[in-house]
Amino acid sequence: MNLPRVGNGTDVHPIEAGRACWLAGLEWPGVDGCAGHSDGDVVAHALTDAVLSAAGLGDIGGLLGTDDPRWAGARGAAVLEHVREVLRAAGWVVGNASVQLIGNTPKVGPRRAEAEAVLSAALGAPVSVTATTTDGLGLTGRGEGRAAVATALVVRTTPGSPVESAQ
Ligand code: MG
Repeated sequence: MNLPRVGNGTDVHPIEAGRACWLAGLEWPGVDGCAGHSDGDVVAHALTDAVLSAAGLGDIGGLLGTDDPRWAGARGAAVLEHVREVLRAAGWVVGNASVQLIGNTPKVGPRRAEAEAVLSAALGAPVSVTATTTDGLGLTGRGEGRAAVATALVVRTTPGSPVESAQ
């Protein structure tokens, strides 16, 4: 049976005052960004982990390394384009993905369609973006950081791929 596979991903980054905010593949002027080796895009990173997990290809730490200079300041969309290519080479495509930002800022609603368009183009599949707060509770509620949780579905394109052979 050639069933689709699902995977989950999460990410959390601290907020850094004065850093440009890149989130869900977009820049958010006037909003403090997230600290991190890359651009701190928790939405893109949670999506990346979900996609890799669904395909059984490990996680973002293994894909990019935690301090690889090639990914210093890397945009979330570039990471997603890379993971899409890694999946393609291993015989998978993304069916769809869903990601939820958890944090006080930014207000995603007015730019939801724009974010979904950028992330969908990078991943080559429909991506839904939602957001929630935690009513002032926890690190996200206190404005110390942002989190994201994602789910992705992948479909095998190449029977007998290296991934399939290893299972
Ligand atoms: Mg991250």
